[in-house]
Amino acid sequence: MLLIPCPWCGPRDETEFRYGGQAHVAYPGDPAALSDEEWARYLFFRDNPRGPFAERWSHAAGCRRWFNAVRDTASGEIHAVYRPGEPRPVTP
Ligand SMILES: [Zn+2]
Repeated sequence: MLLIPCPWCGPRDETEFRYGGQAHVAYPGDPAALSDEEWARYLFFRDNPRGPFAERWSHAAGCRRWFNAVRDTASGEIHAVYRPGEPRPVTP
């Protein structure tokens, strides 16, 4: 069982959360100007690191809010959580 610390509710069981993919993927400023390849890269291409990774999570069965977490993809350990609009904390 993985405990995920919601920034508003505190630690809750992972079953209450929904994964939302990589964090900090900015919506294109002018989507109509993109080529099909550039649009596909925005939609489908994501980093896939081994180690700390900034992800989006939703506390779907709780407060229903979105937040970001820095999680180690190898160990599952969550190094930090932060609210949308806050900068990514410095983590090991
Ligand atoms: Zn919550």
